[in-house]
Amino acid sequence: MIPDISKIRKDFPILDQIVNGKPLIYFDNAATSQRPVQVVERVNEFSLRSNGNIHRATHSMANRTTEAFESGREVVRKYLNAAEAAEVIFTHGTTESINMVAFSFGEAFISEGDEVIVTEMEHHANIVPWQMMCERKGAILKVLPFSEEGELHIGLLDSLITGKTRILAVAHVSNTLGTINPLAEIIAKAHQKNVPVLIDGAQGAPHFRIDVQALDCDFYAFSGHKLYGPTGIGVLYGKRKWLDRMPPYLGGGEMIDRVTFAKTTYNELPYKFEAGTPHYVGAIGLAAAIEYLHNNDIQSLIQYEHDLLTEATYKLKQIEGLRIYGEAPLKTGVISFNIAGIHPFDLGTLLDQMGIAVRTGRLCADPVMDHFGVENMVRASFAFYNTSGEIEAFYRALIRLKGMF
Ligand code: PMP
Repeated sequence: MIPDISKIRKDFPILDQIVNGKPLIYFDNAATSQRPVQVVERVNEFSLRSNGNIHRATHSMANRTTEAFESGREVVRKYLNAAEAAEVIFTHGTTESINMVAFSFGEAFISEGDEVIVTEMEHHANIVPWQMMCERKGAILKVLPFSEEGELHIGLLDSLITGKTRILAVAHVSNTLGTINPLAEIIAKAHQKNVPVLIDGAQGAPHFRIDVQALDCDFYAFSGHKLYGPTGIGVLYGKRKWLDRMPPYLGGGEMIDRVTFAKTTYNELPYKFEAGTPHYVGAIGLAAAIEYLHNNDIQSLIQYEHDLLTEATYKLKQIEGLRIYGEAPLKTGVISFNIAGIHPFDLGTLLDQMGIAVRTGRLCADPVMDHFGVENMVRASFAFYNTSGEIEAFYRALIRLKGMF
């Protein structure tokens, strides 16, 4: 079924505005996506009628909030097909989720001389927490490289994984190259050697149906704000067998069972990892965003986004001097590029003057910049509310700017 994009766009009023004298074209969806009215209204309605701190009171407002928060967790559980809601931890976003695993898994399972594998295409959020943990523990960080097309050299995993490897962390989808990584193959190779796998799903969760049980991943992290939900909310899915054996990340209210000055015992999952007042408004908004996706035909939205990518790639390749970074056969709607002779920041600023929002810079992926020997890139990233007409306007804008330089 072809999705009715003009109807969908009505759910995103932010898109219908003039920026710098031109209709807004929002191509920065990999940084953050826009929120449909259904999400905004749910959050507003909740804040105006039902607010009360969760889990800690007998009054009705608190009970309503708790119920909305816990049903939000159930919505996420279903979205991920997690075996139980206790395996769904609300965090502030992908970054916090990965830091949580790097710290707590590191405390429980990593010692001096052990090894952790990440890949060359990771966002800084899936590099630095591991580096910090390795420094603390005296462990070694190893890196799986990628090819010129932007595909991981999966074959190298067999030699990279050793008896000392304790965990492997990899992006579902690269935020710079757009590559969709072959998770099933990576996870199978790691599990063959009893190595658990964390998936950075920041760019995966917004574009696919996720089934953590079918994938058999050990951890899956994502952010609400890239999934048409609010900022400040994210999720860490973890298999109970790991979470049960990991110490808490933060201490405070809610994560405890009983506190005495001599000793504190901890709460059950998932609360052991949810210290303090959680961002329950965000969790409720995230659940509304997931429900919004379910009310549409997700499969047709995925196909539509892919068609946009194909069209944009084809058009951009007509522009002389334009180089696309990342041309793996399996990609999501992300195109990072440079045009010879134009500084990426100039390009970004001038596109903005034409109402077109793209990202420029190092894209939180210094190793990817180093791989290609560039300082910065321009990145256009698409969502299902973008249109073929917008891609045409983008293409024409680039041609015009190229002519100016
Ligand atoms: N990983 C990837 C692949 C990302 O694209 C991002 C966001 N750009 C993150 C992690 C971090 O997400 P957040 O800032 O929402 O924590």
